[in-house]
Amino acid sequence: MEQLTKNVFAETKLRGCNPGYVVTSDGVVVIDTPQLPTYAIRMREECEAKGRIRYIINTEHHVDHIFGNYFFKSAEHVIAHEETRKLFMVVYPQINPYEYAKEAMPTDDPEGMPFFPDEETYFADPKRPDITITQDATLSVGDHTFILLHTPGHTPGQLAVHIPEERVAFVGDTIFNRCQTWLYTSNLEQWFRSLDRLLDLDVDLIVPGHGPVCTKKEIYVQRAFLLEWITAVATAVAKGWTKEECVANISFLDRFPCDIGQEYMGPEVTKNNVAALYDLLTAKR
Ligand SMILES: [Zn+2]
Repeated sequence: MEQLTKNVFAETKLRGCNPGYVVTSDGVVVIDTPQLPTYAIRMREECEAKGRIRYIINTEHHVDHIFGNYFFKSAEHVIAHEETRKLFMVVYPQINPYEYAKEAMPTDDPEGMPFFPDEETYFADPKRPDITITQDATLSVGDHTFILLHTPGHTPGQLAVHIPEERVAFVGDTIFNRCQTWLYTSNLEQWFRSLDRLLDLDVDLIVPGHGPVCTKKEIYVQRAFLLEWITAVATAVAKGWTKEECVANISFLDRFPCDIGQEYMGPEVTKNNVAALYDLLTAKR
């Protein structure tokens, strides 16, 4: 994994979210877990070599951030927002989240297949969050502070994790850096407010949910991209385009691909983004 500061490590080059961990004087705190078994097991072993795993903090409920908890049975506790516990693993209602996790295996982690649990075994103990919060909270572990900011928008239970001693924040999917933004189960008004909150952080480095490690400058890029999305669909609605016309004609795939391993999902993500924004803008009040 990439070492970002003296005690902070993150992985940004695998299919799935960007998981990371922080080594404190009293154990290790993991922030999100790798979706692919081989890498989840490897990361757990790497953490265990540096101390007992005190907490996993999940920044959201989507599969790519939380499925890998299963491979971290030694972690003492899992902390998340209450909404993340409630929505555990559900990407969107039409998708079976377990199958969604399995879909990546043949292409992205064939050697991990023996470690991939069957559905019953998985759901018997997927290592769900056992400590939940409903607003900002602060966690002290050894010589480190973990300020958990509730930053809803991409998902209702979205958290950002600010570690002031390291001048780093893990912001989860509030920022997709240089890859496509998934916004079709999101609340954009909340998302803009959460981006504003991130601007107030006094940090040198930001670990986004997807894409390379960045700085606060990327907050403006993400905000601009969300505005472009909503502007494109709002302009089409104003012209009287139907939903089908919007879906057929609006795309930002020339800007960024989907994140690593998900490039093939670009057209589907685009279609869902457009359809969701169309529904939002044409909803009868
Ligand atoms: Zn997500």
